[in-house]
Amino acid sequence: MRITDERYSRDRQRLDLAFRMIHHEARTCTIRTWTGLSDDRIRKLYRAYVAHHGATIRRHRGKSPTQTAYFLRNLETRRHAAALAGLFSLLGLLWRAAERGGTRAALSWGELFCRTYETFLAFHGPSGITFEHAFYLLHLLQRRAELRPGHCAACQALMVIDALRPSGAICPLCEAEARERIAEAG
Ligand SMILES: [Zn+2]
Repeated sequence: MRITDERYSRDRQRLDLAFRMIHHEARTCTIRTWTGLSDDRIRKLYRAYVAHHGATIRRHRGKSPTQTAYFLRNLETRRHAAALAGLFSLLGLLWRAAERGGTRAALSWGELFCRTYETFLAFHGPSGITFEHAFYLLHLLQRRAELRPGHCAACQALMVIDALRPSGAICPLCEAEARERIAEAG
């Protein structure tokens, strides 16, 4: 009886996480990796989600994002990337590698990631960085090869730093201020 309960509750947890990820337009392969659900079950969940919410949800089947430049392309994305990096750090995700295969550890990791992303959305709205890009950013920050978490040379705020550039980078807020000063002086 216990084993059945345990199985049932894990299955429930898997479905809840998959629904949450569908809502954020996560890719099928990401949902499969984190929840351990089959493609067929994920497909059915998509249909159930659309039927329930009457929403058009985009299903992303292609490759995951792989562009470091995406996070540094303008002041707004840099500000969003810095906010996400701050949340990753605060909630302990920067040092916790993603788990796979729908185990308890994988499900709780996935839930923590969703909570972090939802906190980001609550502050910055849905126009910022997508769920998959947020996951890719975390991967990059953990790897520290192209991007790394660091501090602004001017105000010490946490920011995302291009690891291949010389040190002394300043955060988007300080850069915006500096630009304003230059514009005023000119
Ligand atoms: Zn700064």
